[in-house]
Amino acid sequence: MPKLAHAPSYYAASAHSQPARPPLTADIQVDVCIIGAGYTGLSAGLHLVEAGFTVAILEAAQVGWGASGRNGGQIVNSYSRDLDVIERQYGADTAQALGDMAFEGNRIIRERIAKYQIACDLKNGGLFAALNPKQMGHLAAQKQLWERYGHTQLELLDQTATRLAVASDRYVGGLLDHSGGHIHPLNLALGEAAAFESLGGKIYEQSPVTQIVRGKTPQVKTATGSVRCDFVIVACNAYIGDLVPELAAKTMPCGSQIVATEPLGALASTLIPSGFCVEDCNFLLDYYRISADQRLLYGGGVTYGARDLAHIEAVIVPNLLQTFPQLANVKIDYAWTGNFSLTLSRLPQMGRLGDNIYYSQGCSGHGVTYTHLAGRLLAEAIRGQSQRFDAFAQLPHLPFPGGRHFRVPLTALGAWYYSLRDKMGI
Ligand SMILES: Cc1cc2nc3c(=O)[nH]c(=O)nc-3n(C[C@H](O)[C@H](O)[C@H](O)COP(=O)(O)OP(=O)(O)OC[C@H]3O[C@@H](n4cnc5c(N)ncnc54)[C@H](O)[C@@H]3O)c2cc1C
Repeated sequence: MPKLAHAPSYYAASAHSQPARPPLTADIQVDVCIIGAGYTGLSAGLHLVEAGFTVAILEAAQVGWGASGRNGGQIVNSYSRDLDVIERQYGADTAQALGDMAFEGNRIIRERIAKYQIACDLKNGGLFAALNPKQMGHLAAQKQLWERYGHTQLELLDQTATRLAVASDRYVGGLLDHSGGHIHPLNLALGEAAAFESLGGKIYEQSPVTQIVRGKTPQVKTATGSVRCDFVIVACNAYIGDLVPELAAKTMPCGSQIVATEPLGALASTLIPSGFCVEDCNFLLDYYRISADQRLLYGGGVTYGARDLAHIEAVIVPNLLQTFPQLANVKIDYAWTGNFSLTLSRLPQMGRLGDNIYYSQGCSGHGVTYTHLAGRLLAEAIRGQSQRFDAFAQLPHLPFPGGRHFRVPLTALGAWYYSLRDKMGI
């Protein structure tokens, strides 16, 4: 079978070198077998080996090959559906439980970076930028909401302060999360993989799982080997394919696209003098930041149903130029796409299939922090402390209307409606 290489991204081009991780070619036995070496799988694996478990991770391609190695690198707190919606739909107790954990993934990332000395260009500060007064009102309400749950590292910026943070005339103000920030996402994943391996964990790359044989001691099979274990964690997210049909049915893969400009030298720090990462407040949002080598990395553009876009530049560059007209003649060095997993409720799905198969998926485009929290909660549940895991696992999740064939056009229609409202400023 041909080897699956990383997407042609700026991250792949600037990734730290890695040891060879050969495919699984034997029948082995461990305590926990994890399928997928993205942040969810790596975070769970690292927590488990730290607690003394034997763990093998089977990865269809390479460490960080999925969304974890291709994303915007923005450390965004809370969830894709925020705590006010959780309060309304699931009640105060659930909102309190999830609210308490809403900033924990961010802290886990920073602890990992510090403890294992992971070189991944960490920078502090995340700015949510409002394009109109209505969005500014939402940001003010969001600050109050998060503060009610004890998250107080937030600051509202007026138009002048926002313009000082980011040199674009598009914004009327913003909300600065001092505990947000950004990282080189692939190098974070690679650093976490190295930490996991330093504690005895095993990673098998180019080892797509073809079957999970359920039972008292499940068996996870690839074309050339198998893992017998006490627990399985399914951490495949948007790339799950047909491996576990009941999990795939509850999510929809969606694409997002990013471009990286040529290195901009001194110009870079005039674009975002604060060094923060920025995301706007539109339903189909733009997100961007400056890389360690002074490129502008600019993302956006959702495709429903995970189609690859033939012309990423044509979709993203017009938005980039609307934000920074001063880059009119800029050269684009890299353009890539990756898939995240959307759920109908926009809330992540965590749970069990039977007694010993665990999963987490569907962070709906908002997963850098959540996946790190999920890894900790999966490990806690396997260790028998499932209270925090169950706070997520008890959330009801419905399949998308329209089934596998019509879920894509129906969801795209909904997104078109909301983005039209954004364009009209209502
Ligand atoms: C372009 C883009 C930009 C984004 N930007 C941001 C951002 O700035 N901030 C933010 O918070 N979130 C962002 N996200 C979302 C975030 O990246 C994801 O939510 C998160 O990385 C998901 O991690 P994961 O480990 O669950 O899944 P993935 O990282 O997708 O990992 C799943 C892994 O499972 C493997 N796999 C699948 N099937 C099998 C199998 N049968 N056998 C073995 N292995 C298998 C895959 O090869 C893959 O490596 C973005 C997503 C994309 C696509």
